Amino acid sequence: MRLVLLGPPGAGKGTQASNIVEKYGIPHISTGDIFRANIKEGTALGQEAKSYMDKGLLVPDALVVSIVKDRLLKDDCKQGFLLDGFPRTVNQAEALDSELEKMGINLDRVINIDADADILIERAVGRRICKECGATYHIKFNPPKVEGICDKDNGVLYQRDDDVEETVSTRIGVYMEQTKPLIEYYNQKCLLLNVDGTQAIDAVFTVISEELDKQLKVDL
Ligand code: ADP
Ligand code: ADP
Repeated sequence: MRLVLLGPPGAGKGTQASNIVEKYGIPHISTGDIFRANIKEGTALGQEAKSYMDKGLLVPDALVVSIVKDRLLKDDCKQGFLLDGFPRTVNQAEALDSELEKMGINLDRVINIDADADILIERAVGRRICKECGATYHIKFNPPKVEGICDKDNGVLYQRDDDVEETVSTRIGVYMEQTKPLIEYYNQKCLLLNVDGTQAIDAVFTVISEELDKQLKVDL
């Protein structure tokens, strides 16, 4: 299955992505994770991306598109993939379409998770991430068993630099202006699955997996 996860910051894309890739055995391609890994390693790409990310702005399309193109050509994407946080502009969506066309493949589904701004801010500000494995927690909605420590590998949890209220608000504004038009873009292509992201984590996953199971039956 070739999937895209769409939604504003804090909607629950990364959380659902972990569940989806585990159940369906496809690689998780998160452009945000790729940038954060580059920042951690101190690469030139990471340095350039950080200057935009810290302000809550989008990294320029050309940079993002070339990273995703390279990633899609890797062998593990032959079975399908889950793009999380890409595309984020109509320009990126068009670049993705033309790349997929060259590869002779199509997207199967675009999963759009949405929630209101007040919920998004509370979620993003309370988000904590494992330094070792990247697992995501929330101090209130999805706390680890031991405060500040990852359940899976005992890694220390940290807060992203851009998960402070002011930057989250900027990111929501950027989403409204630059990313939200993609809902109509994919609606016209009949690919959209709208999911109410205000439900509990498990309930959101139930809705998504029921749809994807139906999709798999159609494909057989
Ligand atoms: P995104 O990738 O869309 O920015 P995340 O999946 O990282 O969002 O989720 C943002 C924060 O909200 C995380 O701390 C996560 O644990 C929490 N979260 C995700 N989904 C839900 C949900 N359905 N209900 C409550 N909290 C959630
Ligand atoms: P969230 O979904 O919580 O906003 P991400 O991890 O997807 O977080 O993105 C964090 C930041 O990384 C964005 O605010 C942006 O600066 C950058 N970024 C990630 N993906 C893209 C993309 N497709 N295009 C441009 N910038 C991106």
